[in-house]
Amino acid sequence: MNERTVALVSGANRGIGREIARQLAEEDGFLVLAGSRDLAKVEETGSIVALELDVASEASVDAARARVESELGRLDVLVNNAGVYGGYESVGEYELGAAHEVIETNLFGTWRLTRACLPLLRRSDHGRIVNVSSGAGQLAEMNGGAAAYRVSKAGVNALTRILANDESSHGILANSICPGWVRTEMGGASAPRSVEEGADTAVWLATLDDDGPSGGFYRNRERIPW
Ligand code: NAP
Repeated sequence: MNERTVALVSGANRGIGREIARQLAEEDGFLVLAGSRDLAKVEETGSIVALELDVASEASVDAARARVESELGRLDVLVNNAGVYGGYESVGEYELGAAHEVIETNLFGTWRLTRACLPLLRRSDHGRIVNVSSGAGQLAEMNGGAAAYRVSKAGVNALTRILANDESSHGILANSICPGWVRTEMGGASAPRSVEEGADTAVWLATLDDDGPSGGFYRNRERIPW
């Protein structure tokens, strides 16, 4: 069994995911699997290893899980970061095929990868799941537009709460984060936050002590309403 703490980050080839992977790799004893649809886009180091992963594909997720299982035998940290924004349309305007694609990646992608990884996470003594959600999915502050994205992230938040309960007997802590508005391809150049700031809360939750919180939604390391 691997002695290092094994973390998997989806969508780790750019943006917030790449920064989460970079910060986790700086933690003592961490081995970070940087999930990416295109292996060539991941810069490997001693602590960062590229893992081919398309969260929208059952076959890809299966192959990634099989590789982690055979090569490392266990997973300690899963960060579900991969996501797409889709369109800005309202409920009435959204073309449903396009909405399906957004929800497929953001919600079912998170569910698919988590489901595949749970047996490996249960083998860890300190399993952690961090779901990268968004304030756009916050029911307490729900606005209009970007209907598919909002629904997908509200769904991710529900998944977090269910998971936290379902997996508590295995010692797995599961939480959602909002990174804030971050300068990435998704966030755009005028976003106020750097990727370093955007990644911070996810890394904090990925490295929680065993008595840390579970089943919460966090921004800036503080709990926020659902
Ligand atoms: P980004 O720069 O657009 O990066 C998105 C990442 O997700 C890319 O690595 C992309 O890979 C990957 N991805 C998309 N679909 C995938 C799939 N089917 N399988 C595997 N990987 C896939 O976005 P970001 O700003 O870093 O966003 C990261 C997360 O933060 C997302 O979940 C997003 O919703 C959330 N978020 C971002 C902001 C913000 O202001 N930026 C705010 C709130 C929440 P490819 O290169 O292959 O496309």
